[in-house]
Amino acid sequence: MSPPLASVELARPAAVHAGTAGLMAAAALAAAEAALHADRVDCDAAFPHEAFAVLRQHGLLGAMVPAAHGGAGASLDTIAAICRVLAAGCASAGMIYAMHQIQVACLIEHGGGSPWHEQLLGRIAGEQLLLASATSEEAIGGALRNSGCAVNVDNGRFHLLKMAPTISYGAHADAILATARRHADASPSDQVMVCLLKPDFTLESLSTWDTLGMRGTCSNGFRLEARGACEQILPVAFGEIADGTMTPVSHILWASLWTGIAGDAVQRAKAFFQGQARARPGSLPPSATRVADAVAMVQMMEGRLELALAHQRQRHAGLSVSALFSLAAEMNGLKTSVSALAIEAVQQAMMICGMAGYKHGTPYSLGRHLRDLWSAPLMINNDRILTNTASLLLAERSS
Ligand SMILES: Cc1cc2nc3c(=O)[nH]c(=O)nc-3n(C[C@H](O)[C@H](O)[C@H](O)COP(=O)(O)OP(=O)(O)OC[C@H]3O[C@@H](n4cnc5c(N)ncnc54)[C@H](O)[C@@H]3O)c2cc1C
Repeated sequence: MSPPLASVELARPAAVHAGTAGLMAAAALAAAEAALHADRVDCDAAFPHEAFAVLRQHGLLGAMVPAAHGGAGASLDTIAAICRVLAAGCASAGMIYAMHQIQVACLIEHGGGSPWHEQLLGRIAGEQLLLASATSEEAIGGALRNSGCAVNVDNGRFHLLKMAPTISYGAHADAILATARRHADASPSDQVMVCLLKPDFTLESLSTWDTLGMRGTCSNGFRLEARGACEQILPVAFGEIADGTMTPVSHILWASLWTGIAGDAVQRAKAFFQGQARARPGSLPPSATRVADAVAMVQMMEGRLELALAHQRQRHAGLSVSALFSLAAEMNGLKTSVSALAIEAVQQAMMICGMAGYKHGTPYSLGRHLRDLWSAPLMINNDRILTNTASLLLAERSS
């Protein structure tokens, strides 16, 4: 059983005290370390331990945790910026950091008033715990608002068994936030979110993670079994967590890291183009308009992200149903549009760099960027999200 969590007092790293500038300086160090190991992480489908050692050293796993619980109280804007910088160095490291912060955001927004979850926030900051997520389920796939498994509650304790097709870095996580039906007779959409702590869960590998890209996320399938105290179940319905925090924060942080990957690819293309121009002074290289186009695509992604961050900041409880539908549709649009545009930008970069981009091991190599980004439209399939958006738009009109 998980003991009531004792908050462990560790010295707070300097970056945590130094505000946004300190956090971004630490993120740049982690990104440089991530970039050094990115090709090996990709080739071996290995967890990016080196980058996470730097992130932990500077307290960045607890960056968003409020200062009252020992964190830096960073805003979503700052966390998005960190995801982007990290992903430019290593997409897998950026994605793992983003997924961890999505779970932290859910705890901050929806665990308030629950002593168990507040103490957990203290541990995330103090011990730099890494949080993973188990929402997907065998036979249900990426339908976030449905669960097949249930928490079976008895005498203040629960038991959960979930067949999860993908738990990114599950084998490296200190805790997993899982969705499940509220009880054995509950409908598939009557869900709760429960926080499972090591060593109270076991993971039995069901499938390996030998994929086209995002190989360092180590997103194996697992049979997840856990027991714990009922106080580990978040005190609000999962629907509220999904709508208010998990979905918009996921879409914002994913869009940010995808912008980071595309931005790095376009930066390589720009450097290639500038090299061509230097070699033949006085004339524009043939790829000139493609460079201008690729840079404009990254600017579009940045603009779309800024808008979403501004609207998420303005989200408050008093929004009308129609406004909430419209905001949900906007966040979905962020995900579907940035995931597609990022791939387009890297393809444009590939056309600019030509063989230097197609080959591995050149300063202009783009294969890893393209492979990593192909996870973007699939990660909660864009077709599924577009169907949801269409329903929201219909409901918005009639509400
Ligand atoms: C890098 C990466 C990391 C991940 N990490 C995690 C993790 O840590 N935890 C976790 O729980 N999950 C994780 N996932 C899984 C993810 O959240 C989704 O569950 C997964 O992308 C859905 O996969 P799917 O395509 O098999 O299933 P589905 O989304 O169910 O889609 C299956 C197919 O059905 C079609 N389809 C389904 N629904 C519709 C619809 N309504 N309209 C039209 N077409 C539809 C789609 O075209 C798709 O090809 C990760 C995925 C990736 C790529």
